Amino acid sequence: MGKYIWSVACKEDNLWVKWIDHVYLKGKDWRIYMPNSTVSWYWRQLTHIKDKFRTGYSGDRWMFDKKGYTASSGYEWLRNNQNVVGWSKWVWNRLNIPKHSFMCWVIMWDRLQTRDKLRKIGIQVENHCPMCGLYQETADHLLVQCSYVRKCTQELNRSLKLFPQFQDLDSMSNWLNRPTAGRVRCQVVQATSAALLYNIWIQRNKAICQGCLQHYNSVVKQIKSEVWMRIQGIMPKKVQDRDREWIRQSLM
Ligand SMILES: [Zn+2]
Repeated sequence: MGKYIWSVACKEDNLWVKWIDHVYLKGKDWRIYMPNSTVSWYWRQLTHIKDKFRTGYSGDRWMFDKKGYTASSGYEWLRNNQNVVGWSKWVWNRLNIPKHSFMCWVIMWDRLQTRDKLRKIGIQVENHCPMCGLYQETADHLLVQCSYVRKCTQELNRSLKLFPQFQDLDSMSNWLNRPTAGRVRCQVVQATSAALLYNIWIQRNKAICQGCLQHYNSVVKQIKSEVWMRIQGIMPKKVQDRDREWIRQSLM
């Protein structure tokens, strides 16, 4: 099964992969593809297994063997590594906007090209955080510790009333994986956190390329609006009225 998943992930040039793309994927991204209710049992199982393997891929690259996917490395991955990756639940939460999930996946694999990383590989770039200008730009500083992010988190807390102040990405991730409210509310908080991380990275790039930083109030407004729009589109029917009201009050 792992072989088939790998074939689709790297778009191998064979008839079966072409057929799958034509019938099921229709050009959609395989990493975040979710089957609808009418697909066959076999295809549903395959996508279910794909979700288990998802954190092992980067694009069409299998992260645990340079030569590519093999049945033995896939088995090792399932046996050992999947348990280690504790963040996959919130990163691939279905209420997340897919591009936010992908960004979080990059962050949690420690692949974000922050200035400290670029300097480590010999690229001469400015050392400081472009948002506050005070500290070295590491992923932990940029996404969690920076005063700009803290202001965004405080502003989000005025409506969501759930976010603690985190010390680093690991503590944030651990907290996101432990539900502190009911399932739906927890998913909303996870989706909001993913949107926060994504938007902070966008603001960071704007600060570098355009030399400007949006006011934290308007970034928070944008985050809430993005999550609200997403949830409106895929909110499960069985969500209770009081949770719907909580979501509306938190994001509107
Ligand atoms: Zn900073």
